[in-house]
Amino acid sequence: MNNVNKNLEIALINPFNKKIVLRDFYSSTISKGNYNWPNIDLLCMSGILSKEFKTQIIDANTLGLSAEEIVTKINNQNLKGIIFSIGKSVLNDDYEFIKDIKSKIHPSVRIAVVGGVIYHDGLSEIKKNDFIDACILNFTTNDVLNFFLKNYENLNNVIYRKNNEIFATSIRMPDTNFVIPVPSHEDLPLSKYQISHGRTKPLTSVITSYGCPHKCSFCVSGRINFRYRNIDNIIEELDYLHSIGVKEIVFRDNIFGFHKKSCRTLLEKMIERKYKFSWVSDSRVDILDEEMIKLMSESGCHSLHFGIESASTETLKQYDKNLKDIGLIEKTIRLCKKFNILSVGYFILGLPGETRDDVDRTINYAIKLNLNFASFNLPIPILGTELRENSIKNEWMLDNVNEYDGSSSPLIVTDLLSQSDLLYFKNKAYKKFYFRLSYIFNSLLRIKTFFQLKMLIIESINLLLLRKNKR
Ligand code: SF4
Repeated sequence: MNNVNKNLEIALINPFNKKIVLRDFYSSTISKGNYNWPNIDLLCMSGILSKEFKTQIIDANTLGLSAEEIVTKINNQNLKGIIFSIGKSVLNDDYEFIKDIKSKIHPSVRIAVVGGVIYHDGLSEIKKNDFIDACILNFTTNDVLNFFLKNYENLNNVIYRKNNEIFATSIRMPDTNFVIPVPSHEDLPLSKYQISHGRTKPLTSVITSYGCPHKCSFCVSGRINFRYRNIDNIIEELDYLHSIGVKEIVFRDNIFGFHKKSCRTLLEKMIERKYKFSWVSDSRVDILDEEMIKLMSESGCHSLHFGIESASTETLKQYDKNLKDIGLIEKTIRLCKKFNILSVGYFILGLPGETRDDVDRTINYAIKLNLNFASFNLPIPILGTELRENSIKNEWMLDNVNEYDGSSSPLIVTDLLSQSDLLYFKNKAYKKFYFRLSYIFNSLLRIKTFFQLKMLIIESINLLLLRKNKR
């Protein structure tokens, strides 16, 4: 909708991979099931760049497009630049893909990259890889636009190469109440995306805030200061999504609802406008009260994801979870049930310092909480986290963890829990949580549409495969 009368082109590409890779600014993971959503970094930058350029987002991963097929789509005399979203979990694959495309296009086309690995380690990545012309360190500011316009004065949030020299500009957060022009959602195959407990399609990603005010030491988002987005600007985007028939939204916030006043206004406007989107987001148990959860439900929220991490208050304290009252976990999950919102709990099994008993208690706690879904993960030494720094210092990190997929195998091992312990507990957690008669019965009772039935069958097959492939 933004690309009128502009000739110069920038392509924004989510690279091809045999697996479904969820790359974004905060980290990247391989999809464990069949879930997949639009890349928020590329979407936001498509809006910003469309002020001056014709843009085209191509999700080569979802569409299964090869480098040749992409070059056929984008290669013309007006092509000025390409931005690739890259992920630490598939970094070598991503670089090979970029080099392949670079070898097939005019050498003057500038290549930029974005992603968690770039935010935390951009300088060394650009030094090591001479095919990269720029690292974009923020996807919500005008800096990406200024880079491609060659407005180097007052440029922030970009590390770039010019005349064989590398320039690292300062990190500068967007202003709070920030604004992003409406992204080019229509470029993406919105009917091909889905989330595991989703209700419908077409589906897309939107942000209402950026970063996180908390500082959990295993998570990278707390290293990015929290900013919220202007409500009228979000509504403009939602109006547009409604007009093009989007039905499901993944709000890619780290902590939806943190800024209470603006969140309440947003939800009230969504209700007033009768969009009837169904939506899902990550939040925190200690920021939502009954009034907020009720508004969320009325505006179409069907699921909320909460990082619960561990049943051990000692662990939560040690890793700066900063949860003042552990009772809020149960209370918030109860409120979600009251307003028909599914609760999804995320757990980390075996953070350094935890014992076998701690992990067992966490699994039992997950069951006791009566969550609708649980995701059991092993600790990941994500780039930019204190957990990674400590793991290196204490030699907890196993060899060859440079490319981690965020899910399957142990990456951090201490004297208290071996690799086989971690795999045993992960397998046990899924088995105990999902293979309960009461759980299966309640999941079947929840099904109201054929789409939900289809998603449940797919998820069940994935769970069985996960158990079969346990190592
Ligand atoms: S509250 Fe959530 S998003 Fe924020 S730092 Fe902690 S784990 Fe990360």
